[in-house]
Amino acid sequence: MSKALKCTCLDCGTIGRFPADKIDAKPKCGKCGSWLITGKVWEIDLETLNKAARTDDVPLVVDFWAPWCGPCRMMAPQFTMAAKDMAPHVRFAKINTEEYPNASQRYNIRGIPTMALFKGGKEKARQSGAMQSPQIKAWVSEKA
Ligand SMILES: [Zn+2]
Repeated sequence: MSKALKCTCLDCGTIGRFPADKIDAKPKCGKCGSWLITGKVWEIDLETLNKAARTDDVPLVVDFWAPWCGPCRMMAPQFTMAAKDMAPHVRFAKINTEEYPNASQRYNIRGIPTMALFKGGKEKARQSGAMQSPQIKAWVSEKA
């Protein structure tokens, strides 16, 4: 039996579980039926972020950003590319700190864009400043 991995459904916030060796088999959320893992970047709210940050075994990279931030907008396509390339082993999400100002407070974000990497219920690393897709991937691979 392969170890079960916990992974929060980033669409409905339900905590899903699947065997680690099925990570390539498009595991689905038992509640809403969404895929738990895709190569897309999810737009998440603070409640979902909190849940995933303290629960997920699958590494989750979160981009704290805001629409008024030029470097954030420049990084967005790079982040999207990294998300696609690193699926299904890493998930990528972004949270709009203008819409959820409490997110910056809760995670002590001092400048944006800031990426934080969560895994196993803990924050493993964070990095501020816009990066290109290869740098993002190298950083995630090193820290995850
Ligand atoms: Zn769901």
